[in-house]
Amino acid sequence: MEIRAVRGMNDLYGKEMQEWHYVEEKLRKIFRTFGYEEIRTPVLEKIEVFKGAVGDDTDIVEKQMYAIEKENETLVLRPEGTASFIRAVLEHQLHRTGGAQRFYYYLPMFRHERPQKGRLRQFHQFGAEIINDPTPEADSEIIALLNEVYRTFGISEYTVRINSVGCQDCRPVYKEKLKEYFRPHLATLCEQCQKRFERAPMRILDCKKEGCKKLAAGAPVITDSLCVVCKTHHDQLKVRLKQAEIPFQDDPTIVRGLDYYSRTAFEFTSPLLGAQDALGGGGRYDGISARFGEPPFPAVGFGLGMERLMLALQEKKLLAEIKSSTQVYLAPIGEAAFDYLFAFGMKLRKLGIAVETSYDKDKGLKWHMKQANRVNAQYTLILGEEELKGSFALLKDMATGNQEQISLSELQKTIERKMLP
Ligand code: AMP
Repeated sequence: MEIRAVRGMNDLYGKEMQEWHYVEEKLRKIFRTFGYEEIRTPVLEKIEVFKGAVGDDTDIVEKQMYAIEKENETLVLRPEGTASFIRAVLEHQLHRTGGAQRFYYYLPMFRHERPQKGRLRQFHQFGAEIINDPTPEADSEIIALLNEVYRTFGISEYTVRINSVGCQDCRPVYKEKLKEYFRPHLATLCEQCQKRFERAPMRILDCKKEGCKKLAAGAPVITDSLCVVCKTHHDQLKVRLKQAEIPFQDDPTIVRGLDYYSRTAFEFTSPLLGAQDALGGGGRYDGISARFGEPPFPAVGFGLGMERLMLALQEKKLLAEIKSSTQVYLAPIGEAAFDYLFAFGMKLRKLGIAVETSYDKDKGLKWHMKQANRVNAQYTLILGEEELKGSFALLKDMATGNQEQISLSELQKTIERKMLP
């Protein structure tokens, strides 16, 4: 077939889909435990949502957005979650309803990047956001929540790096210091960093090119330029992270690629992932609403890549034990057995037991067993002419291979006992 899915955009099905469901359910549970409510924003947003908020000269806005022109408007497929979240908060005035509010989202994101392992053009992010809470405790909760995600799954191979990118008082001073440092070396910076030099010199610290990295290693660090308020905030965050027993490194090169951060910025990276090693990251972005022409309100959050989490789980073989969602596959052999199991299957579904079967009436046992394996059923219920005559059925445990003979009068009760919690 000539027509294929768009490069960097994947179909999900079968075992992989089951693994995603398993992980998604666990994640939703963690977010609820921490008191976060789900929010869903549309896939399409007006381009201004990202242009103003994310930063016009960021990679995302400059190169990576998928745009659609319609009725004299430019709409883009959401490249990241925070700007759309803030757009929704402002639109519905959620920030005016009083104290701290906690939200999470689970949404596909679209970026026109060069696909490679762990880097897709359609990928999925779980994100969390707290609004109306300016405290370092809120920052530490957000980091603790991201930490809890990996801890829950048994992933320990990652590093938490934190930094403060300052505020509108101390950052300009630091930016000037940085420019002074880089100015004599401008010609040796990569083309993109030369462009960043004037407006966003801090992003040079984030550049992955060897030459820029080498230069950045000797640059002045922001930690030495923080104002008292930012420094106190950052110190308190570290106290709270220690209390929460989360190991971290202070890393002044964490500036995050986007424009909207203030004070806390953090990243979780893992050697389990290879070149694209960012598991997740985020920070505080109290000033983002000003980019929508609105007064500021406190906000802090993170985004974590679902595909990268899945990669880490696969790497550590932590997905091997996932139970199939099909609890019982019905294998009727012959017309009379088919009649019996058709009705019986409907009854089981009403009880909440996940059933699969095939409506092909003239297949043999071997064929049915193949289907049961394909759907990864936990049990297979076999009923043929012989069994019907004897008023019993065979229940095969697919994991152990054990097969029990169960009288038809006991069948429902036995299955309920085995399969309902
Ligand atoms: P960002 O919004 O760029 O900070 O990304 C947050 C997280 O999303 C990263 O830490 C990654 O886990 C994930 N991520 C970002 N870009 C991609 C991509 N192109 N493909 C897959 N995952 C991504």
